[in-house]
Amino acid sequence: MKKVILIKNGELVLKGLNRSTFEDMLIKNMRRRLSDLGKFNFIKAQSTIIAEPEDEDVDFDEAVDRVSRIFGIVAFSVAAVAEKELGKIEECVMEFLGDELRAVRTFKVNAKRSDKKFMYKSPEICREVGGYILSKIPALRVDVHNPELTVTVEVRDRHVFVHGNQLKGAGGMPVGSSGRAALLLSGGIDSPVAGYMMAKRGLILTAVHFAAPPYTSPRAELKVKKLAALVARYSGRINLAVVPFTEIQEHIKDNCPEELFTIIMRRLMMKIALRIAKNDKCQALITGESLGQVASQTIGAIACTDAVATMPVFRPCIGMDKEEIISVARKIGTFETSLEPYEDCCTVFTPKHPRTRPTLELIEQAESRVDFEEMLSRAVSETRFCSIDG
Ligand code: ATP
Ligand code: MG
Repeated sequence: MKKVILIKNGELVLKGLNRSTFEDMLIKNMRRRLSDLGKFNFIKAQSTIIAEPEDEDVDFDEAVDRVSRIFGIVAFSVAAVAEKELGKIEECVMEFLGDELRAVRTFKVNAKRSDKKFMYKSPEICREVGGYILSKIPALRVDVHNPELTVTVEVRDRHVFVHGNQLKGAGGMPVGSSGRAALLLSGGIDSPVAGYMMAKRGLILTAVHFAAPPYTSPRAELKVKKLAALVARYSGRINLAVVPFTEIQEHIKDNCPEELFTIIMRRLMMKIALRIAKNDKCQALITGESLGQVASQTIGAIACTDAVATMPVFRPCIGMDKEEIISVARKIGTFETSLEPYEDCCTVFTPKHPRTRPTLELIEQAESRVDFEEMLSRAVSETRFCSIDG
């Protein structure tokens, strides 16, 4: 049985003149994300994109699974292709949806006829196909208002598509339609969620991770790579930059007041991330901060970190409770990995009593006593890059 994926694109529909550009971007993303599974044709047809495998041996189930994680798709269905003949359509319905039909109590048939030359009109298709299904599975009941399963028969120019209930897509906008941004990716729960949320708004991700060996272990870095790969299942390929941060951290510890350690460290992280971001053509930074979660995430502390930012800083988790962030982490499959217990550079040298209401003046004063510039440049130049696929 030949199958296709019917894709309904989301907000794209709202974009008026941009719609075609957005659709092309979505198709480009799908083509790339399915490329290793075999060759697919993508056909635009009104508000639907048809993904049709060209060869017999494509891994169709894997393709469906991947499509469910591609942003810019509101809903999709897996459809069987039938010949344009009523008897063939009926056979196809039973072959393709028989098991699903046997598992429910109520159904209805919904027909769409874009080929007006087809000899049966929509109500006739519904009646005929519905009657056929009932003759095969007499225990079923038709419920036109609230059926458990809707059998859709779409009669198009070249083929007829048969499918069951639509599946929910990943939503959002095609990755790339909003540009590129740099995600500060720790090994924690929040930052992978932040990356997922902003990729959903159409951003390509560059990830920046700060490592502080030997205080942080190679396994911590592996964990971050694993997290990046999990996020990349949604965002597509991620450029990951791993920044050596030990020298800077030791320098802060030895030269700055302990209570300001965290804020100064975060400001220096931002400065480095900004340079890497700029080199990688990013237009914004993304962090997983949530207001009030820890001392470095109070309004005052965020104001102090933002004071060094020369690009917008997106914080999609800012208004979310930990519980809400965790539920997204579970949904996207990063939660378990985030729980692996490896030290993050942020928890190295944590002060006992961090200041929750730092003043910018105090911080700038403390920073001015140390010359960080050379160390910052060194950290940037010694940064290692790799690209991570989902
Ligand atoms: P997460 O769960 O994402 O680690 P968190 O609640 O532990 O967040 P912090 O450790 O204070 O919060 O970090 C706040 C944000 O700073 C993180 O969400 C992330 O964006 C960034 N960040 C923290 N540590 C690192 C790191 N080692 N490398 C890159 N970014 C980091
Ligand atoms: Mg963290």
